Amino acid sequence: MSGVRERIRQHLQVLAEEVGARPPGSPANRQATAYVEQVLTNAGYPPLAAPFTTRWWEPGDGHLEVGGVPVGVMPNPYSPAGDVRGRAVPVAGIDQLEALPTAAGEVLVLTDELASGQLLPAAFPFLDLPEHRRIRAALHRLAPTAVVAVSDHWEPILEDPDLPFPSTTIPTELGCDLQPGDDLHLVVSGAVHPGDGVNLSARIGDSDRRLVLCAHLDSKATTPGAFDNAASVAILLALTELGHLDGLPVEVVLFNGEDHIDSCGEVAWLAATDLGRVVGACNLDGVGLIGRRTSLTSLACPEPVASQLGDWVTCHDRWVPAEPWVESDHAIFALRGIPAVAITTEDVHALLGGLAHTADDTLEVLDLDLLAGIAADLPSLVTLLATALTTPAPHDQGG
Ligand SMILES: [Zn+2]
Repeated sequence: MSGVRERIRQHLQVLAEEVGARPPGSPANRQATAYVEQVLTNAGYPPLAAPFTTRWWEPGDGHLEVGGVPVGVMPNPYSPAGDVRGRAVPVAGIDQLEALPTAAGEVLVLTDELASGQLLPAAFPFLDLPEHRRIRAALHRLAPTAVVAVSDHWEPILEDPDLPFPSTTIPTELGCDLQPGDDLHLVVSGAVHPGDGVNLSARIGDSDRRLVLCAHLDSKATTPGAFDNAASVAILLALTELGHLDGLPVEVVLFNGEDHIDSCGEVAWLAATDLGRVVGACNLDGVGLIGRRTSLTSLACPEPVASQLGDWVTCHDRWVPAEPWVESDHAIFALRGIPAVAITTEDVHALLGGLAHTADDTLEVLDLDLLAGIAADLPSLVTLLATALTTPAPHDQGG
């Protein structure tokens, strides 16, 4: 598998260094998909493209002044550009937000309950929550001049192209002195553009009933996305082109929208696919971090398969079992009752804050030997899954 390590390194260099940030719809994203398409075509598996249109955000700068004193900030993704002033109106909870008569001419400062996690954007297709709907409706009705969220959550609180005011998220330590009536001046740049893109999928074996082996190739606009998720894509490309998946009933799918507000790629792929022929899915997202083991969990798997997976993990060094997590591209299968396996890094949720979606997610955080080891182990895992899920259970065999 020494060739695998070198190919993984080369794919990573193209995706995370030469292309870099590749949000769906952007020119960089099309560069990434053109590269992936070429690799799969050269491997003898010209991929099918599931196209989509979307909106992508070109990052800009941010600047906030409190009573004339500058505070450096990052604009929220998809914030409209603007240079606006207004009085600060701190709001800590949903009830308090809904009780405001208006916020015209004012800057809403979201804290506590309103800034404890990312507000789901209206465009996200797979989940909505009643409290998030209430917050979005109140923000639209109040029509503030701008919004400043004060939060230590690892992601910006607002990332929603349908919110019409400039906004930013600032860390709690910078926002703790903001008082009602403070004079705020917010300047944000950046732009939202229309764009298009594709998912790419390559059928390996000739069986119509197949296991989807997938990873997302897109990244946020603010990161080279080496760990999240060029490393997984590099593994799947290397395995495909070096023939390690040949003959398996597998469809390799490179999704293009896992880190995007409207999951444009996943929606397009689902619309173009007969899920009745998909026996299961195995998703890689966030693998190969230096000093960490690789984790595996299963969702919606029948018991014999789940315990076979447990045995497989026990027999393989540097793999650990994980608790099920309902996110990323395995969730779109599991939530439809299709058995799904998720592969990531142990304790990944504790690691996300300082790494994923940031400029620090570069090749330096990755262990190439670990990635090559994952690639070496994957064919046996895929074979186990494909065999277990395409073989009818004894009671289905008739007679
Ligand atoms: Zn990811």
